[in-house]
Amino acid sequence: TFNKDLGQHILKNPLVIDNMVEKAALRPTDVVLEIGPGTGNMTVKILPHVKKLVVCEIDIRLVGELEKRVQGTPYRSKLNILIGDALKTKFPFFDVCLANIPYQISSPLVFKLLHHRPFFRCAILMFQKEFAQRLVAKPGDKLYGRLAANVQLLARVDIVMKVGKNNFKPPPKVESSVVRIEPISPQPDINLKEWDGMLRLVFLRKNKTIGAIFRLKAVIDLMEKNYRVYCSLKNIKLDDNFSCKEMVEKVLEESGFQESRARSMEIDQLLVLLCAFNSKGFHFV
Ligand code: SAM
Repeated sequence: TFNKDLGQHILKNPLVIDNMVEKAALRPTDVVLEIGPGTGNMTVKILPHVKKLVVCEIDIRLVGELEKRVQGTPYRSKLNILIGDALKTKFPFFDVCLANIPYQISSPLVFKLLHHRPFFRCAILMFQKEFAQRLVAKPGDKLYGRLAANVQLLARVDIVMKVGKNNFKPPPKVESSVVRIEPISPQPDINLKEWDGMLRLVFLRKNKTIGAIFRLKAVIDLMEKNYRVYCSLKNIKLDDNFSCKEMVEKVLEESGFQESRARSMEIDQLLVLLCAFNSKGFHFV
């Protein structure tokens, strides 16, 4: 019996597993990380190809099954089992991450992987189809938003395979897709919290222009609060007739993005906007 709360949907189609392993282009020297190995269907297919495989599984019952499966084989010594929540467990160094993950941890797991240093070479992960589409969405696509902009700032992402429900036991309610994630190097030299802070604002209302968003009172108030903190840290004295609204307006005018909408802006353009704000002392954290 499988625990639905833990997203336990076992991959039963060996062709899908083989395909995922192939997409990872494993090398014999690789250290691989697998999240949620479950009963080990993918685990046993990875082991012959790599130097070391670290798995992280929350369900101790399944860990027992996995251990039984590799016991007495030459692969046991390559396998390192971490028992616990993948979101709370410290990951060791790894070259490649390969996993059919529990879908409820998709977003935090992607960011945990992207913030892991040193960088991995690539990750091949199974996601719910809609989440995968949000990850790879491009400016102008319906699903382009904060998630895509946050992830694509740091990585190249592609859907490499579509996987129907019936490849799993029990079948999940949703269709799935396998995504390949490859960190970009060098990474952009910006404060990621600040980047996300700006994305929260510009993607707040999908149909509003950048100009309109930065005229919203709540947004101006937030900008002013951050600006005052910045000025006090830098010992900058504010003019008596200082108007945050006018200053923000000026930054936008100069940037040329006033009439743009975030939903159709490239990451590079969003970066230009962030730099324009930062260069005038406006911050988003
Ligand atoms: N990899 C196996 C396969 O493809 O047959 C099982 C995949 S199943 C979709 C997800 C697995 O992740 C389950 O074994 C579940 O117990 C485990 N899991 C759920 N939440 C987890 C978490 N927070 N950390 C680590 N593992 C988790």
